[in-house]
Amino acid sequence: MIKTALLTTVLLLLNFQKPTIDTDKDRWKPYYVDAVPAVVASNWVLPFDVSNRKDIKQIKVISIFGDHRDSFYKGHIHTAIDINPLKPKTSLIGVYPIAKGVVCSVHLAENQRTVVVKHKLADGKVMFTSYKHLKEVYVSQGQQVTEQTKLARLFTKQESKKYGGDYHHLHLEIRKNFDDYGCASWLTMNQKQLDQRFYNPLIFLKTKLKS
Ligand SMILES: [Zn+2]
Repeated sequence: MIKTALLTTVLLLLNFQKPTIDTDKDRWKPYYVDAVPAVVASNWVLPFDVSNRKDIKQIKVISIFGDHRDSFYKGHIHTAIDINPLKPKTSLIGVYPIAKGVVCSVHLAENQRTVVVKHKLADGKVMFTSYKHLKEVYVSQGQQVTEQTKLARLFTKQESKKYGGDYHHLHLEIRKNFDDYGCASWLTMNQKQLDQRFYNPLIFLKTKLKS
């Protein structure tokens, strides 16, 4: 009897265990393709169609990297910057890669829909950029892209209201790796995990836009 009760307790505990990057990543692997970027990413620009894509002042930062978050998964750390163009040219805001690369993942559904681009660097290493909260996606896995390829468009303020009103911006991640297949975006719970996979996008952009 005691044994059964113990077993039941253990099973219950296992069942209610909080998801972690390691336990959740396999769910997102099917959305990933191991595509190879055709060219080296050398020119880095802002992800929007603004008058000067090398000018960091042409974006408005709504939320900073490393912030505490209770949305989607309670207590996670914000792995991105949330941004919009300072002066949008049109009401429908297009999203573009910040450098040349290949689309390696399109995952999640509406209001969290995400495109990930893999970039090859001059030293042969790879890195990734991730674009989240996309209303419409125009690319697919395995597609080579340049700074001019329109990946997607953002939610309008009106469309965002359907989900509580906080999705009409780009959640931009700059990633050292993508071994979590995307779930680290909402399951990063401490500084070590943050440093393991993510660059501070604002610092990254400020440095790279000058080159
Ligand atoms: Zn965000």
